[in-house]
Amino acid sequence: MIYFARPDSIMNEESLYSYRMRIGRTLAIESCVDVDLVMGVPDSGIPAAIGFSQQSGIPYAEGLIKNRYVGRTFIQPTQHMREAGIRMKLNPLKDVLVGKRILIVDDSIVRGTTSRKIVKALRDAGAIEVHMRISSPPVTHPCFYGIDTDSQEQLIAATKSVEEIAAQIGVDSLAYLSWDGMLEATGEAKDTFCSACFTGNYPVPVPEQVKRSKLLLEKSAPVTV
Ligand code: SF4
Repeated sequence: MIYFARPDSIMNEESLYSYRMRIGRTLAIESCVDVDLVMGVPDSGIPAAIGFSQQSGIPYAEGLIKNRYVGRTFIQPTQHMREAGIRMKLNPLKDVLVGKRILIVDDSIVRGTTSRKIVKALRDAGAIEVHMRISSPPVTHPCFYGIDTDSQEQLIAATKSVEEIAAQIGVDSLAYLSWDGMLEATGEAKDTFCSACFTGNYPVPVPEQVKRSKLLLEKSAPVTV
């Protein structure tokens, strides 16, 4: 609901665009800050950024334009290729950004690589403050149910606090959507959903040896057969 599905997908009889706008509103209630403009990281951060803008009254603007001809950074195999991909993929608009305090909304931070590049690009284009808000809780655990996430040690939020992540990606402030806020916005009972990548509570048992392949904290534990 937060990032993989298309925004025009229908779940619970509404589009995910509407759900993402609503979690943007929740994010504004939870962690607003005094800035000049709100913008989203294209494409998946945009509905939440619009919701944030509507709730906070801070104007929404597009300050990053996506090059639609470059492949997704997520599926590029090496760090070097991912970083090169980010540079080609998002172009900052200097005339929108120069001299402005920006709040940028993204759907998630996984490794932190993309976020750091985006923040640098915004500052290089003239933004005087860059605050980041994330429309999901910190991703602290790998998925074993079909999403090919990194092992836990590569997930930045698995080993760093919010303040440390903020320092690493170079933002003036950083806040994530709360777990409660994410689930309350669905309008469904909280145990309807898997949220293991945010909590480590896997609703379907994962075989010990499979867990060992990706879980940081269990590497040294003995294997139970
Ligand atoms: S751990 Fe659960 S919520 Fe997270 S990506 Fe996998 S299936 Fe989805």
